Amino acid sequence: MRGFITKKATILIPWTHPTLNLRHPTLESFVWNNLIRSTTLQPPLSIYLRMRRHAVVPDLHTFPFLLPSLTHLPLAHSLHAHTFLFGLHTRPFTQTSLIAMYSSCGCLNSARQVFDEITLPDTPSYTAVIHAYCKGGMVDIARRMFDQMTDKNVLSYSCMINGYVKCGEHAAALGLFRNLLALEGSGAGSEIKPNEFTFSAVLSACAKLGALQHGKWVHAYIGRCGMRIDVVLGTALIDMYGKCGDVERARCVFDEIGHDEKDVMAWSAMICAFAMHGRTEECLEMFGRMVDDGVSPNAVTFVGILCACVHGGLVREGDEFFKRMVTEYSVRPLIQHYGCMVDLYGRAGRIDDAWNVVKSMPMEPDVMIWGALLSGARMHGDIETCEVSIKKLLELDPSNSGAYVLLSNVNAKLGRWREVRHLRELMEARGIKKVPGCSLVEIDGVLHEFFVGDDSHPETQDIYRMLDEIMKRLKRQGYVGDTSEVLLDLDEEGKESALSLHSEKLAIAYCFLKTRPGTTIRIVKNLRICKDCHVAIKMMSREFNREIIVRDCNRFHHFKNGVCSCKDYW
Ligand code: ZN
Ligand code: ZN
Repeated sequence: MRGFITKKATILIPWTHPTLNLRHPTLESFVWNNLIRSTTLQPPLSIYLRMRRHAVVPDLHTFPFLLPSLTHLPLAHSLHAHTFLFGLHTRPFTQTSLIAMYSSCGCLNSARQVFDEITLPDTPSYTAVIHAYCKGGMVDIARRMFDQMTDKNVLSYSCMINGYVKCGEHAAALGLFRNLLALEGSGAGSEIKPNEFTFSAVLSACAKLGALQHGKWVHAYIGRCGMRIDVVLGTALIDMYGKCGDVERARCVFDEIGHDEKDVMAWSAMICAFAMHGRTEECLEMFGRMVDDGVSPNAVTFVGILCACVHGGLVREGDEFFKRMVTEYSVRPLIQHYGCMVDLYGRAGRIDDAWNVVKSMPMEPDVMIWGALLSGARMHGDIETCEVSIKKLLELDPSNSGAYVLLSNVNAKLGRWREVRHLRELMEARGIKKVPGCSLVEIDGVLHEFFVGDDSHPETQDIYRMLDEIMKRLKRQGYVGDTSEVLLDLDEEGKESALSLHSEKLAIAYCFLKTRPGTTIRIVKNLRICKDCHVAIKMMSREFNREIIVRDCNRFHHFKNGVCSCKDYW
């Protein structure tokens, strides 16, 4: 019977099929169970209710497909009662799906309660409760449960790794993946081989961290396992290479995916990779090829296309794509698309048009929208718009430290010193701290993290000495610190030293210490790169003949021979 459950079968509607003997009890529930499982047109619950109306008794295969689809807690409780009614509540299948059901309803306590009532929890029930905790953001508890398991399998590993990724703990995800591989190498008789799901989760961790060497290694490992790179794995690889700053490799993977196999996700991943790197022409060319190939673009594709227009400053083209998206491809604009449009107009200095987009949106503008409007307004000195958007930002997210700082800068520019003081007091009263700038570099497969003004690295003295030397050489070439983006309350000298301690400068100094001349330097930064660092890194790339690639929170900057790929438009 179990075999039937996992096989996909085309099911005929039972009451229209002449040869089915519906009075046969197991056959009857078998047909209904399959209907519940394969329904796409109706909610499984409605089929279950019809099944009950026909007086068919549910069996142990009924609930596993039905329960996880429920998201409404009172209904979940009723169905839980049904499992008691039919004496199925102690069946392992049912218990696991009850955990999944409460997890879908967002009710972690009940999920845990079901789990605790199981005398001997098996691997699936452990995995279900781990998944529930990860989904609820309680990744530490999930890990404790995971460590308790005696019989882990590839699913439980994948679930835990994926949980780390979803909760933003990417380094922990890579760590657990390494544990899994060490298990295999230890010869302890463990036969857990990572599968597509494991690799997809690990690759997305590498992408988030910008850990190119790790990502490359995973790619090679997939090859060694003899696993075919299908379109799903291929898309994960394209995304990883794109986000790790190696768009050429992303392109190679893309070209290796079979022509007929490429779906809209694979095309979109490649389009987004080009967009992030400011390679607007190639991005638009890709789009043309995709459409010629008969693949219909979706919402993700257009996020990529509009981003490319934003980074390339192509206002007219972006405008056109936005219109075509709706009229030609019937893609309903999401908030991300509106965000791109606000960004597009804002950067180009067309603040009125940006405002019109905000007013025309059918949904409530979120922090991304106000943030985009703010950065455009800042760039073009529209203080009024700045003020409005910062206030909106603070309404939506009162802990947004950056917004407080910006608002006090705006007030300072207007000479409203009382407001400036008030804001500072407010920040202190609310216990709001600035998000520290943080840069990540990967050297010989080890990730090093640098915070602004960091002195916690074991080689910190050498790093500062190196940084000092670099800055001296830049100054001889005419570098002067651009302090216009630093907090107001520092004096000029303080401002300059605060600048030279920005995390990306520390990270670059470390790379100069640790890598051979000529090696490309790759850095991932959590905030937007500041004007001063941008100028300094441009000069470094020429002065020391190094290619330096920085991913900030918006996009990639490729610094080479004293110029940046963003053409100073970021
Ligand atoms: Zn900086
Ligand atoms: Zn740049």
